[in-house]
Amino acid sequence: MLVSAKEMLNKAKAGHYAVGQFNINNLEWTKAILLTAEEMKSPVILGVSEGAGKYMCGYKTIVGMVEGMIEGLSITVPVALHLDHGSYEHAYKCIEAGFSSVMFDGSKYPIEENVEKTKELVKVCAEKGLSLEAEVGAIGGEEDGVVGNGEVADPAECKMIADLGVTMLAAGIGNIHGKYPANWAGLRFDTLEKISEMTGDMPLVLHGGTGIPADMIKKAISLGVSKINVNTECQLAFADATRSYIEAGKDREGKGFDPRKLLAPGTEAIKATVREKIELFGSAGKA
Ligand SMILES: [Zn+2]
Repeated sequence: MLVSAKEMLNKAKAGHYAVGQFNINNLEWTKAILLTAEEMKSPVILGVSEGAGKYMCGYKTIVGMVEGMIEGLSITVPVALHLDHGSYEHAYKCIEAGFSSVMFDGSKYPIEENVEKTKELVKVCAEKGLSLEAEVGAIGGEEDGVVGNGEVADPAECKMIADLGVTMLAAGIGNIHGKYPANWAGLRFDTLEKISEMTGDMPLVLHGGTGIPADMIKKAISLGVSKINVNTECQLAFADATRSYIEAGKDREGKGFDPRKLLAPGTEAIKATVREKIELFGSAGKA
């Protein structure tokens, strides 16, 4: 059964570790993540972007697949199925389809509108027992326009959104989605510290987990980050392993063209990446 991310994240915040959100793209991805979380006795959040939702033939297909897999693979650890960077419209679609958690990313709106829409979704999610992630937009402009710096949120705006009663809060602290540029300035721990102070017990979310050095991840967790999103890293691992298989000509040996064989090395590579992250985040054995 799918669960809200609330309990697992409150425990993570109190226990000074983080739960990974691993984004899914297809059956192999989902299977690899669920099996690894189970093996490591870690709670887990499966992230679905709107694009991935469309690719997997809609949110209902995904709910069916994930619920079926939890049963079919005898998964006992807590699993939350979460919409990643949802628009207002898609947040409702996922709530209706049976997701147990949604992110409403109102960061592109002026803060007043972000507050208004987030407040409404807080109410809807609370009624249904779902967790809700909100996001605060970037501040300023000039210095953030420099390549190499990620977005940075205003701690006062973070408090405004946190006070609405969301389950977890994403705020820019210099993090970037996708691959980090060589001249990346690093995480802004000064900002994270202020946000943490002002938002109290609120579990904070770090997006763009791919390529942030392990020591920075650990420091971010010590300062209140309780959920870390990983997407690109699994994609790179999958692509590399699949490339090696094809380049070695294995698809041309015997029945090596069988998708169950062709996609196996990539699936194993996702498992290895997830295992490494769960260890780094400290959520192993916390289920
Ligand atoms: Zn993100």
